[in-house]
Amino acid sequence: MKTDTTLIHFGRGDQSLEVRSVNPTVMRASTILFKDHATWQKYRELRKTERVLSYGARGTTTNFELEKLVCKLEKGYRAQLFPTGLAALAMVLLNYAESNAHFLITDGIYGPVRSICNNFLKRINVEIDFLKADASDVEQKIKPNTKLILCESSGSILYEVIDLPKLCEIAHKHSIPVAIDNTYSSGYLLNPLELGADISVIAATKYLSGHSDVTMGIAVVNQKEWKNFDKLPEMFGFTTSPDDAYLVLRGIRTLSVRMHKHEQSADQIVSFLKTRSEIKNIFYPKLASHLNHEIFMRDYKGTNGMITIEFDKNISKDSVIKFIDNLELFSIGASWGGYESLATQTIPPRTEEDLSKSGVFVRFHIGLGDPEDLIEDIKNSLDVLK
Ligand SMILES: *Cc1c(COP(=O)(O)O)cnc(C)c1O
Repeated sequence: MKTDTTLIHFGRGDQSLEVRSVNPTVMRASTILFKDHATWQKYRELRKTERVLSYGARGTTTNFELEKLVCKLEKGYRAQLFPTGLAALAMVLLNYAESNAHFLITDGIYGPVRSICNNFLKRINVEIDFLKADASDVEQKIKPNTKLILCESSGSILYEVIDLPKLCEIAHKHSIPVAIDNTYSSGYLLNPLELGADISVIAATKYLSGHSDVTMGIAVVNQKEWKNFDKLPEMFGFTTSPDDAYLVLRGIRTLSVRMHKHEQSADQIVSFLKTRSEIKNIFYPKLASHLNHEIFMRDYKGTNGMITIEFDKNISKDSVIKFIDNLELFSIGASWGGYESLATQTIPPRTEEDLSKSGVFVRFHIGLGDPEDLIEDIKNSLDVLK
């Protein structure tokens, strides 16, 4: 079954019913009732290995349908929902954390992960080293106590692309599991588990939900690494609401059409941005100048709607902020992956020295509006800088 068909046919509840709705029902519950004590006992056993109803905090059928669908999309063994993308990443780190363990994390990683490393993992004696954003220095940085490699590809500010098959080959030679933040591709543009990764994390907050009205994270794990993954969220009492699971399921049905539209519009906008002398650099993985462009073309189905530009160094931060404020069709706000277009000033993960030589960076999320209108808007706002 091809991906676009999976998006439509999976996670729709019990399809053997004689009469049913198109979408799965939203089952809201804390207490789940069992017809007799033997059944209660049976489900207590079953829940050790399977997704079955047992208590609302462990998810209901709505949550299970979403897990099944994303697991199928990502070609994993099992999936686990989390209240946010960050919570999913935190659980991955926690799952491998032990005193004197060593983790390798790529420099392009989602910013708040650094705070987990610096404030929590350090305290429990987990040592962290950061890799180059493309993980090209992984071999030199592996230690005998390295327990996990966590990477992000493409990064979410400069879209650094990692040669994932190569990274996984090196990691597995040392028996180290590889986790990837796959939010850029959102289970659509890249299949990390097929390329060797053990764990793929998606912030469903972004493209999977697609409508900026829910936060959720999903970790998809292969059989080898599944081990404790379903135990940790229970242990810590992490749960997700069935209403939110429903919203994400609903969003996913249109993932394919949305992703193609985001990409086509981003392509057009990149072509326009290339003509502007105010812009020194454009970060977009389809450009031949992009870091690891060939690997992107080899492994990814396409881009999403993210573009980052670096203005010429002569353009001041105040002017760039004026540019952002003058945009009419782009809003200012964190997160991305919805239908709306966004523009925010951003600081990429670079050294202070590099940043002192750089211009100001702006990240766009190209939404689902007409790209010609968006181009007109950017053009008008750039003209104000003259
Ligand atoms: C947004 C984002 C997250 C975190 O998701 P939340 O649901 O906002 O916690 C993690 N990784 C990447 C790459 C993201 O863009």
